[in-house]
Amino acid sequence: MYLTCDKVPREVRVSYILTGYRPTDTTFKYCCKSTLGLHNETFNIWSHLLPLLYFIWIAVDIHHDLSGQTNITCSFLPLYCNMAGVCVLMLLSSLAHIFHAVSHKWRHLCFMCDYAAIGFYGVSAAIPGYYYSRYSKYWITDPNIFIALSIMSAVIATIGCCYTRIDMHNKYIYYIRTGTYVFPYVVSSTPMFCRIFLEPESMDSTSQFIYFKHVLFMVLAAIFNVTRIPERWSPGTFDIIGQSHQIFHILIFLGVKECLYVMVHDIKTRNFDAIYETNTEPTLFSTFGNMLILTLLSIGVVLRFWQEIQKQKVKRHKNPKAVHQD
Ligand SMILES: [Zn+2]
Repeated sequence: MYLTCDKVPREVRVSYILTGYRPTDTTFKYCCKSTLGLHNETFNIWSHLLPLLYFIWIAVDIHHDLSGQTNITCSFLPLYCNMAGVCVLMLLSSLAHIFHAVSHKWRHLCFMCDYAAIGFYGVSAAIPGYYYSRYSKYWITDPNIFIALSIMSAVIATIGCCYTRIDMHNKYIYYIRTGTYVFPYVVSSTPMFCRIFLEPESMDSTSQFIYFKHVLFMVLAAIFNVTRIPERWSPGTFDIIGQSHQIFHILIFLGVKECLYVMVHDIKTRNFDAIYETNTEPTLFSTFGNMLILTLLSIGVVLRFWQEIQKQKVKRHKNPKAVHQD
């Protein structure tokens, strides 16, 4: 049985979503079973769980495809980083939407891990973006500097988003969370942006079109996340299917898919002899080593904020107005 918004605590309510809430303070078993029910999180769960399976399948397929080609002169390590980032993003997002009904504290922990996963994905896209798609002559020649910048921006974004779990009644919460991730996205995308504007001849029309679709999907995802369209136009109508967060999930899936395809296209078509000087070839440390550093930093941030949340008392509000969104 699912509940209306006036029957659940205020911090659980989602703006303009009036029905279809699972009960709070449930169990892991209940949350697992609820993945097959029809409530206002069902589509949020499956819109990243099914893409997770898709990306695992596509990763194996891409690996076989590229391994069989003899003209490729670059390392696949950065690509594998991105594949790992995509899978972590889809997995933690799905888990957050499944298990946040366990308890008030679990809800915060689940979504803070979700934020950290977005940062993890951002850096996993920045590393291949640097090695496969950067402007070969004038962009930062030391990968460690660029990757360190992208790690820093991802950690700052995670801190910013986790902070909004403490200050949850800020009315600009959607803007803060979306804006916090626009910053690392721009940092991570600079190799590609530089290439588009400074070395456009190195991009064929296929590469340009795929990248254009990637940027379009990401921009649309940010717009839907901030505006809460369409549910703000008709509260209650899109409770189960059609709400902005579901559209956001689908656009994110499409965006990261196009980003992966740009990398594969560049691997197949670019001449890496002109790009790789001896000091810029990817290494295990510059790829997965940096991802490990980011993982440890992100775990530290999440645990630090979770400590703060453990100190908070759970408040029960009677005001039926929906005010909050993850
Ligand atoms: Zn989500």
